[in-house]
Amino acid sequence: MINRSDLVALDSRDPLAGRRDMFVLPEGVIYLDGNSLGPLPASVPARMEDALRRQWGRDLIRSWNVNGWIDLPARVGARIGRLVGAEDGSIISADSTSVNLYKLVCAALALNPGRSTILSDTGNFPTDLYVASGAAELMDKGVRLMVVPPEDVEASIDAETALVMLTHVDYRTGRLHDMASITARAHAAGALVLWDLAHSAGALPVDLAGCRVDLAVGCSYKYLNGGPGAPAWLYVAPRHQAAARSPLTGWLGHAAPFAFDLDFRPAEGVGRFICGTPNILSLVALDAALDAFDGVSMEQVRDKSIKLGDLFIALVDQRCGDLGFTLGAPRDGRSRGSQVSLRHPEGYAIMQALIAREVIGDFRAPDVLRFGFCPLYARYTDIWDLTEHLLQVMLTREWAQERFQRRAKVT
Ligand SMILES: *Cc1c(COP(=O)(O)O)cnc(C)c1O
Repeated sequence: MINRSDLVALDSRDPLAGRRDMFVLPEGVIYLDGNSLGPLPASVPARMEDALRRQWGRDLIRSWNVNGWIDLPARVGARIGRLVGAEDGSIISADSTSVNLYKLVCAALALNPGRSTILSDTGNFPTDLYVASGAAELMDKGVRLMVVPPEDVEASIDAETALVMLTHVDYRTGRLHDMASITARAHAAGALVLWDLAHSAGALPVDLAGCRVDLAVGCSYKYLNGGPGAPAWLYVAPRHQAAARSPLTGWLGHAAPFAFDLDFRPAEGVGRFICGTPNILSLVALDAALDAFDGVSMEQVRDKSIKLGDLFIALVDQRCGDLGFTLGAPRDGRSRGSQVSLRHPEGYAIMQALIAREVIGDFRAPDVLRFGFCPLYARYTDIWDLTEHLLQVMLTREWAQERFQRRAKVT
């Protein structure tokens, strides 16, 4: 039997406990949705204020040089690179994940011509599938998207596979793919791999270089806490950088943008995947947000993340065993990202009732209650309190209230 006092003791010994002060978290809120929108890092408002008043307000256009605005996509990319095991100079921060996927899918198909499929799985996030099928149609080279169940991916890679495009952590179940094994299998068959690390970067250790990954994208407003709509990032392995081409040949991906040549000449390196003018204010916020990762290792983050997830599963077993929930996530922490999902036919209403109690997770159709555990600010006692609220919502049938049945635009 686990008691709340055991968890108070765990919090007091937690080496990451101090990190919580680096975030602005409203009193009384238990925030378990950092996998969808990371909370506001405490350093961001002052850095934004400086970017607005001093840099934009006073330095004006000189800021591109004197405040280093032009280098922000690469500088922020390098900081993200440390979190995902990327080689120096292989990541830029730009655009949205969807747009970066489009750029890299097109680049991959051009790098590996003469094959007919992009292989993905049913656990992928819809935008990834939409972008890949859209890109394949537009390129009109007879390439089509093939979508198989996650457990069939490795066996489905064959001589026709141009690109294996997967999301590392399933957004609904949290199921984690074996990046090293799938990447090796793809390479053995002559295919390239593109990993979407939306739910991995900042949540668990990733070794892009060690796994010899070809291409990757990721999101910055989830575990990286960059703020709503924060610029995403993309990775191109150094060995592909000279040959990989972006379909969006904008002027800031040019080798010499300020020569204003009439012909496009791609920049050396991953910088050629920049298209237009970077979103500076958002990049400043993201840059400040990344301070929260300075001085922590991803192994430390992972260790606590698994403990938080295991604890939640144990507490649901212990206290909510007969309330109609089923576990919608792998039980083994090593096969799971930094989230745990429960499934329940009344999942939507139950989640709304929890949110009304300021216990914030989210819901994914058709029946998934999703709880993200971000080790930089989640406490062990939060997991106890979450379970307590869940128990109350169920025992009192609070979820059955009319107000919790109405669907909002964003779930
Ligand atoms: C969150 C997420 C995205 C988001 O893409 P946007 O272009 O930022 O809207 C894409 N892919 C995956 C796997 C995600 O989890």
